Amino acid sequence: MEYIKEDKLKDECGVIGVYSSKDEIVSQLAYYGLFALQHRGQESAGIAVKSGGKIKSHKNMGLVSEIFDDDIINELKGGMATGHVRYSTTGDSLVENAQPLVVKYKKGSLAISHNGNLTNAEALRDMLENTGVIFQTSTDTEVVANLLSRHINGDMIKSVKNVVEIIKGAFAFVIMTEKELIGIRDQFGLRPLCIGKRKDGYLLASESCAITAMGGKFVRDVEPGEIVVINDDGLKSIKSNKYANRKSCVFEYIYFARPDSTIDGINVYESRFKAGEQLAKESPVEADLVFSVPDSGTPAAIGYAQALGIQYGLGLIKNRYAKRTFIQPNQDLRDEGVKIKLSVLENIVKDKRVVIVDDSIVRGTTSKRIVKMVREAGAREVHIRVASPPVSYPCYFGIDTPYRRYLIGSYKNNEEITEYIGADSVRYITEKGLLKALGQEEGFCLACLNGQYPMEVPNFE
Ligand code: SF4
Repeated sequence: MEYIKEDKLKDECGVIGVYSSKDEIVSQLAYYGLFALQHRGQESAGIAVKSGGKIKSHKNMGLVSEIFDDDIINELKGGMATGHVRYSTTGDSLVENAQPLVVKYKKGSLAISHNGNLTNAEALRDMLENTGVIFQTSTDTEVVANLLSRHINGDMIKSVKNVVEIIKGAFAFVIMTEKELIGIRDQFGLRPLCIGKRKDGYLLASESCAITAMGGKFVRDVEPGEIVVINDDGLKSIKSNKYANRKSCVFEYIYFARPDSTIDGINVYESRFKAGEQLAKESPVEADLVFSVPDSGTPAAIGYAQALGIQYGLGLIKNRYAKRTFIQPNQDLRDEGVKIKLSVLENIVKDKRVVIVDDSIVRGTTSKRIVKMVREAGAREVHIRVASPPVSYPCYFGIDTPYRRYLIGSYKNNEEITEYIGADSVRYITEKGLLKALGQEEGFCLACLNGQYPMEVPNFE
């Protein structure tokens, strides 16, 4: 097994909400929902429930299964819950920054789970600090909590509408008050949020796979700029004054989301498979075997292989357990060739012309190491096919991207990338081809691929 640090854009966060109109305890459902969204964040997780007239919460650093046990879940009694899994894009990786964020204000308390990034959070934080507000965390979620409590004059929905007018950026919020569960999606719908129904209530989640995991039926996505309010009267939809044409994050389809999710009407697995087929049309190559960089490259690799009638198989094996808390080898051990994360099936690739399909290339370092390993295992030719166009610009909307100068697509052309990676050929799907695979020509944010941001962004690289 090779030591390989994943060269990917980093997931953001996952949020869920559960509302039951019956007198039941929903924390276990919230736990299953978060477990299904674990791929969106592995640093910390938390659940807040409405317990009696109060909000009770538990959160910690680690994976969902490490943080919660039966006793903790049984302590979280209540018929309404919100939960969060976190990968820090703003704020440090500390337990204080774990969510849901529970805040008390004059007339009660609320819990907020947030996925995304506010582009004007700093300005808003300054403004609040100038009026004497002291912050407990370094997250922009606390900025929103403060704004909400300042605008509450007995009418929470009015307050939410006011705050949505002020904040800029990408966001999906699940807000739990003592009476209702509120879901909000930013004006472009950059971050996903969907609605599910179960027999005695409603569910909210970043991805439909979590709705299924909680035993619910997917109803629909929250629309860009929509506020949904769930209480004992059912679900009410309110359009905020700020909404625009949808710009779903294209990277949800390329890499972030689970393949069994459907976001804004597009099934993630199918879009990846079709991207592979399209890539085969655009950049075919004669080869003996197609395999993927596991796991997110797999549907595209299958599509690529089927379209060209080349055998699809496994060429790389991933150790799924070399994760967060794993002790990484030091440089000496790496130099000695200690291999822990990926290994090549030598007898499968030996003497073959292989095509390796990946979902994306960010810095190019991982691809270079993989090509080296596959060549050392005896492959005759190594061709790389990438199911997204080159990542060339940073994301300001809640996705952790390296500085632009580290994005290989921003400073090397195709020939130079091929040479750097050491492959016989490297080909990316075109933007047009990707949109074809998604089945729609419009409605996506592609800013990290083409630099066309749907809104003004900070001017640094
Ligand atoms: S810039 Fe890229 S990662 Fe960020 S929201 Fe747009 S498509 Fe998604």
